[in-house]
Amino acid sequence: MKITKKIIKLIIIIAITLFNTGCSEKEFKLLGESSITIQANSNYEEPGYFFEGNTEVDIQSSLNVEVPGTYTITYTAKTGSKTKTLERTIIVVDTIAPVLSLVGSLSKILCNENSFKEEGYSAVDNVDGELSDKVIITKTSSGIKYSISDSSGNLSEISRSFTIKDTQRPSISLKGPSTVTMAKGGTYYEFGINSSDNCGDVRKSLQVSKTIDPDIVGQYTVTYSVKDASGNTNSITRIVKVEDLPQTTVYLTFDDGPFSDTISILDTLKKYEVKATFFILYHRSYSGPVILREAAEGHTIGLHSWSHKYSSIYASETAYYYDLNAISDYIFNLTGIRSTIIRFPGGSSNTVSWFNRGIMTTLTQSVQEKGYHYFDWNVSSGDTAYGNTETSIFNNVINGIKVGRANCVLMHDGPNHKNSALALPHIIEYLKSINAVYLPLSMDSPQFHQKVAN
Ligand SMILES: [Zn+2]
Repeated sequence: MKITKKIIKLIIIIAITLFNTGCSEKEFKLLGESSITIQANSNYEEPGYFFEGNTEVDIQSSLNVEVPGTYTITYTAKTGSKTKTLERTIIVVDTIAPVLSLVGSLSKILCNENSFKEEGYSAVDNVDGELSDKVIITKTSSGIKYSISDSSGNLSEISRSFTIKDTQRPSISLKGPSTVTMAKGGTYYEFGINSSDNCGDVRKSLQVSKTIDPDIVGQYTVTYSVKDASGNTNSITRIVKVEDLPQTTVYLTFDDGPFSDTISILDTLKKYEVKATFFILYHRSYSGPVILREAAEGHTIGLHSWSHKYSSIYASETAYYYDLNAISDYIFNLTGIRSTIIRFPGGSSNTVSWFNRGIMTTLTQSVQEKGYHYFDWNVSSGDTAYGNTETSIFNNVINGIKVGRANCVLMHDGPNHKNSALALPHIIEYLKSINAVYLPLSMDSPQFHQKVAN
């Protein structure tokens, strides 16, 4: 028999009622009903008995109020050799259903039935305890129903109702500036837009309305509109100014190649018929054939370095020329070109040579005395910066280029410059909008000298 607190309490109540009066005719009867029904887990209060006599009454019970069922309490009174027994039936019932509760709203507005994300539910029962993981979820015609039954079959149900409709309009924002200026006669560059919708992809719905006449100076509007499946729309506009812009020259330069991404860069330059400049760094397995292609396709072959090791290149003037001559001879033997167009590793304004004070002041003078032109840059693509992306490179270049001047753009085609190769077509497309003229560097080009810092 399971002894519970409730049984102990019962025995105490019975002990208090042990009482006799000492009469000769012994009356023994139960007080209260002979059959008592109680809820599971409630207190059983013993109504007691009446016994006329000086004898103990023995009480036996298997009552367990935690478990629904039918129990008997037996009361046995002995007087001399006589025994009298009474019984009381206790029926423990569970008629209380589990408490079922939901997290979040009971009525949801959804794009479709499948877009509902469960927000949570719980079920706890007075007898069975925690039942959350036994909740049954079923689809109904108007939503979903949560059901839980306890071990006595008491059922709790709650429903969430779904209203299938999309009342939210798509969101739309411009990529690139809200006002762009293009050159008269240029080709409009489309920066595009970002769009999203709570009920799916709306990119295919994009309608662009524009009436730009690139040959007529003026202000134009481009309107972008998107529409979701429920017909909710949104739109945004961009101002396009067509102006008589002064001539913009762009020298695209690539350092530290050739390497694997150089091929795609060369393909892009060929496609757009753009001539650029490559400042060569020696890479055993990539250099030869690619340098030959660069030269054959009309790009300028510039000298960068054989080793690119700042500590040895800038150790002395002799060391610098040892490195420069190595790459110069290599290119000459390969192509027959004796290049006099150079770019210092790190640029002329580098601080990496500070271990040898004054070396850049010396070298920037001596290279010119020897007939070289050294070229720095005035637009940096940031393609060696940590975390650079195709977009960051594109933005750095188009923001760095100034209309009406000569721009020398520093990019790289050494190892790990896929982003530079990816950004290049977009840069060239954008520069068509300002009618930029591309030139390879030559001995007649501006040299874009930066301030020597050593
Ligand atoms: Zn370099």
